[in-house]
Amino acid sequence: MLVLKFGGTSVGSIENMTNVKNIINDGQRKVVVLSAMSGTTNALVTISECIKYKEIENALELISDLHKTYIQTVNQLIHQSDLQSEVELYVSSIFDTLKTTVNDNYSTTLSNKIVAQGELLSTFIFSRFLLQEGLNACLLPALDFMRIDKSNEPDCFYIRQNFNRIINELPEADIYITQGFICLDAEGQIANLQRGGSDYTATIIGAAIHAEEIQIWTDIDGFHNNDPRVVTDTHAISNLSFDEAAELAYFGAKILHPQTVTPVRDLDIPVRLKDTNSPAAHGTLITNSIHGEGIKAIAAKDGITAIKIKSARMLLAYGFLKKVFEIFEKYETSIDMITTSEIAISLTIDDTKNLSEIISELEKFARVEVDSFRTIVCLVGHHIVYHPDTPKLFQILQDVNVRMISYGGSSNNISLLINTGDKIETLRKLNRYVFDLVPA
Ligand code: ADP
Ligand code: ASP
Ligand code: MG
Repeated sequence: MLVLKFGGTSVGSIENMTNVKNIINDGQRKVVVLSAMSGTTNALVTISECIKYKEIENALELISDLHKTYIQTVNQLIHQSDLQSEVELYVSSIFDTLKTTVNDNYSTTLSNKIVAQGELLSTFIFSRFLLQEGLNACLLPALDFMRIDKSNEPDCFYIRQNFNRIINELPEADIYITQGFICLDAEGQIANLQRGGSDYTATIIGAAIHAEEIQIWTDIDGFHNNDPRVVTDTHAISNLSFDEAAELAYFGAKILHPQTVTPVRDLDIPVRLKDTNSPAAHGTLITNSIHGEGIKAIAAKDGITAIKIKSARMLLAYGFLKKVFEIFEKYETSIDMITTSEIAISLTIDDTKNLSEIISELEKFARVEVDSFRTIVCLVGHHIVYHPDTPKLFQILQDVNVRMISYGGSSNNISLLINTGDKIETLRKLNRYVFDLVPA
């Protein structure tokens, strides 16, 4: 079986939904994972923030605006009267529920419940659209099988058991439509796989059913060699290895959720990135094979905090790093980059939830400096660390204000820490130096 995931823009207009229908209507049995229609999750997040800050009127207005958009979409998409009444009833019930939440006390669970409505809406509407168009499709509720455990990892055993049970209980269908992003947590409450999580849903399902292939359909013709939102002249890469894709996704390439390849890399299930508006384009195929050499792509991850830990006692001492790492472990905060000298360690984190506790503990034995608004720029390619062209990269250091550099931690990755304000210029400069071979 194949798993196909369609992102927000792919289901964000009548025209794109029609494209999706044509793509999936090929007679092959498949699971189709859908995101919320583009803009919906952002709107739901804002509604949830309004409830948090008791801005009830704003919340109600946003709910009403969103409801109007959905009424329009349904009217344009569904013409068959019985299906139209069914969808209108469903959409109204969702918006009625949303209206009742505005007076509830804010909690993470309430927010998760609100944010989950986007995928519930898109899948219901799209499944009825397929029925109207005569396709043999069936809705497969993600909350009946998708669950994360106490460490927020997918509960693979539960997912596999329940997915297979449900699919066997449902009427035989060619196309099973399910919600991306949403899941239950270990306590059975509504949760999610974090923003952009529908990609992750697709590979979790793909791993659970040992799919032949997972296809991630989006609004661009594949994984580009640099961020196309800020750099012109980028191009799609036809092949990436799981390792390369994992590094790029982790270090900020928005096209993939950071965890996307994790469930499938050991199972060697290919992941193909495809463009919904241009289905004939090759896209990007992610597998275990290695293709090409040198630096293949650049990505950037914002929201990084750098911490410098300085201690004269570090000089010739052993056990210092252990003491430092134990503090980060205690506060469940992972470290992205690290460099050391005789008397100082610099490291970066992206989760600052427990930053003040971490600093207090470090200050018991070291001087600590914290710098926010940093960005990690990451250059990726198979064994780039050994490639003869890579050292040329250092020539650009005279042009770019690099705060930290990590070279050799993995042979596929070189990371630079810069000020977030310098990001766009750095990505553009690197693009020229690395891919256009402009002398520095
Ligand atoms: P979807 O809603 O389909 O999940 P996303 O917006 O999450 O789509 O991801 C696709 C977008 O990611 C593209 O439109 C593009 O602007 C952005 N993007 C950022 N970095 C890259 C990259 N390296 N390659 C391709 N797209 C990228
Ligand atoms: N709808 C969710 C989001 O906007 C999940 C996704 O699109 O993958 O983050
Ligand atoms: Mg996405």
